[in-house]
Amino acid sequence: MIYAVWLSGLGLLFWILERIWPRRPAQPVWRKGIVSDLAYVVFNAHVLGVAIGNLSIGATAWLDAALRQAGWKNAVYAGVLAELPFWTQFAIWFLALDFAQWCVHNVLHRVPALWEFHKVHHSIVDMDWIGDWRFHWVEILVYRGFLYIPGAMLGATGEVMFWVGVLNTLVGHFAHANLRWRIGPLRYLINSPEMHIWHHNHPDEGPINRNFGLTLAVWDWLFGTANVPDRDPGRLGFAGIESYPEQLPGQWLAPFWPRIRGGRIESK
Ligand SMILES: [Zn+2]
Ligand SMILES: [Zn+2]
Repeated sequence: MIYAVWLSGLGLLFWILERIWPRRPAQPVWRKGIVSDLAYVVFNAHVLGVAIGNLSIGATAWLDAALRQAGWKNAVYAGVLAELPFWTQFAIWFLALDFAQWCVHNVLHRVPALWEFHKVHHSIVDMDWIGDWRFHWVEILVYRGFLYIPGAMLGATGEVMFWVGVLNTLVGHFAHANLRWRIGPLRYLINSPEMHIWHHNHPDEGPINRNFGLTLAVWDWLFGTANVPDRDPGRLGFAGIESYPEQLPGQWLAPFWPRIRGGRIESK
């Protein structure tokens, strides 16, 4: 089944769940930035996400062929996963990708130039499952390409990458959903709304740079970056969010153009 079907199905599922068990009942369906966020879903999840997956596999095959011709047999293209059964490949690729993403996510928060791109994701002030897709395209390109190419080099098949992608989408939608479910001891294992909302808190609400996990929560518990208070933060965002662009065009330009991220373009 194509990814777009899974994406729409999971979107619809979480849209219904958010209506039945809302975490913040007062948050309107047509909340701030919804139109831009729907555009992010179409562009980031479908157009860019699928294209990067396919490109990574194609680029790796090309690299492999070029290296073989040059006499570098399997020096870079270590197809170690290719012969393994589906579920073994799935488990290895899922764990390796999730840990790599946790590391990259840390770096995105700690390197100022990269934080300017990642800030787009943190500019959401009313969280719901759609917010799972608010990312700058540069972040998607670097982040995903950077991670998928090693996957293809390890020999993970397109099918394995696809199903890991579906699982990550399911948990990503769940973690961002405006859903009041608490998952008890499972919160030590997988990301959840009660945990991820404390990745998005405004600095006035409590410590920042916590809960970097994308699908698994275990890395944050292991490395001491977990923070899951019993309450929810009163406010999301970052210092200076008041003057950050609210719509997609401004958010795409902001990392390149300090005047935009510091405030709307002002006429003199
Ligand atoms: Zn983040
Ligand atoms: Zn998030």
